Amino acid sequence: MRSLLSEWLTLHCTRELDTMIEIEGKRRCCGCEACRQGCPQSCIRMERDEEGFDYPIVDTDRCIECHKCERVCPFMKLDEPREPQAVYAACATDEGLREASSSGGLFTLLAEDTLRRGGVVFGVRFDEAWSVCHDYTETIEGLAPFRGSKYLQSRIGESYRQAEQFLKEERPVLFTGTPCQIKGLVHYLGHAYDNLMTVDVVCHGVPSPMVWQRYLTTLRAGQGEITGISFRDKSVSGWRRYDFVAQSAGGGNVRQFYGDNIYMRGFLHDLYLRPSCYACMAKGGRSQSDLTLGDYWGVERTCPDLDRALDEDKGTSVVMIHSERGRRLLEGLPCRYRQTNYASAVAGNPAIEQSVTEPPKRQLFFAQLDAEPLDSLIARLTVIPLHKRLWRQLHHQAHRVKMRLRRLARD
Ligand SMILES: Cc1cc2nc3c(=O)[nH]c(=O)nc-3n(C[C@H](O)[C@H](O)[C@H](O)COP(=O)(O)OP(=O)(O)OC[C@H]3O[C@@H](n4cnc5c(N)ncnc54)[C@H](O)[C@@H]3O)c2cc1C
Ligand code: SF4
Ligand code: SF4
Ligand code: SF4
Repeated sequence: MRSLLSEWLTLHCTRELDTMIEIEGKRRCCGCEACRQGCPQSCIRMERDEEGFDYPIVDTDRCIECHKCERVCPFMKLDEPREPQAVYAACATDEGLREASSSGGLFTLLAEDTLRRGGVVFGVRFDEAWSVCHDYTETIEGLAPFRGSKYLQSRIGESYRQAEQFLKEERPVLFTGTPCQIKGLVHYLGHAYDNLMTVDVVCHGVPSPMVWQRYLTTLRAGQGEITGISFRDKSVSGWRRYDFVAQSAGGGNVRQFYGDNIYMRGFLHDLYLRPSCYACMAKGGRSQSDLTLGDYWGVERTCPDLDRALDEDKGTSVVMIHSERGRRLLEGLPCRYRQTNYASAVAGNPAIEQSVTEPPKRQLFFAQLDAEPLDSLIARLTVIPLHKRLWRQLHHQAHRVKMRLRRLARD
């Protein structure tokens, strides 16, 4: 086994699974855990590296050389990018749902439809430590924790196995996640299921769960115990200039424009993404999902004539359809939608196709992480000139006033 894996890994990952992975090899593992979940001997475990990302380690003594881990790994078959069959700008007609969701609320509509048909929905929720993990629900109430984007890598746990079990029981299954998690699921399952619907999100990349935990420690030091987190709160500043919000037991909530929040700043400067995110093999339609959801940045330019309700800064989704099943599902949902085109979606949202570039300061960030307080380290490595900061503050305050006036006029 050792030699077979070594051969495969030399080709694909330049690493050995029973030692820690070399830096260049880490780009070839997205942490989907398809190998671990698929191993019939349960002899693969995930181990966290010094950057806070999990990688598989094989117990070679128990391995029976069946090669399943190789067959299910999404890096074993790299697909060509594919353009969607159709692209839409869409949002839920339920304005409350739209506001509670990160984009246009399409995830919840698809999920409710699945549950109404007796199905099961897989999504990402916070755990007890405010990290995030995949889980499933069979109830409408169970959807709320899945709503909203959480900007860190989710632990997939046993969800591929669980989804497979439900599929074999002929229950409709909606599985949502990042493109690499969907590609991992497709490879894990090994064949198509008519009762499976897969939805991925347009993906900028996933930050290190360890960096997130360190950020939470700084938050707790100032605010006390955390009782709620929203990475994308639209209630005050709207969809385009959303806030990061952390609620705490003492009531001293943090609300910051995302550009001013230090964790979001490091994330959006790509300082602590998983290495595979700088060379993503799953975006651009390569995940084999039925549908892709994202933010329709630039919708005001693409559809200037669009119903005003679609563009009052509550959030509009870009919906990319990759299969006939995906098209049928969208058509039945209680949402407003308008067909657009792929070029316009990509123009406002390069993350649909392109990986971000690894910044040279990433190495410095992880080298200094134990030596410097997190907030000053991120601030130092993502310096924004004073005039830009002032301009942004001014713009943000003006935007908030505009939002307030708009609400007053509406009420
Ligand atoms: C890490 C990450 C990066 C993203 N980057 C972009 C981007 O660059 N451009 C863009 O247009 N859109 C991006 N999105 C997608 C966007 O933020 C919305 O999630 C998406 O448009 C769906 O919104 P919604 O209103 O339909 O539903 P919502 O209710 O807002 O979406 C919730 C959905 O996101 C899933 N989800 C939440 N957190 C995670 C996570 N950590 N890992 C996997 N799945 C998760 C849930 O399972 C559920 O399916 C990103 C999302 C995530 C999680
Ligand atoms: S070859 Fe088979 S037994 Fe060995 S680690 Fe891979 S899946 Fe497990
Ligand atoms: S299956 Fe997933 S976790 Fe395992 S080696 Fe491949 S990418 Fe990494
Ligand atoms: S950018 Fe690619 S590799 Fe990174 S989490 Fe998103 S889909 Fe996975």
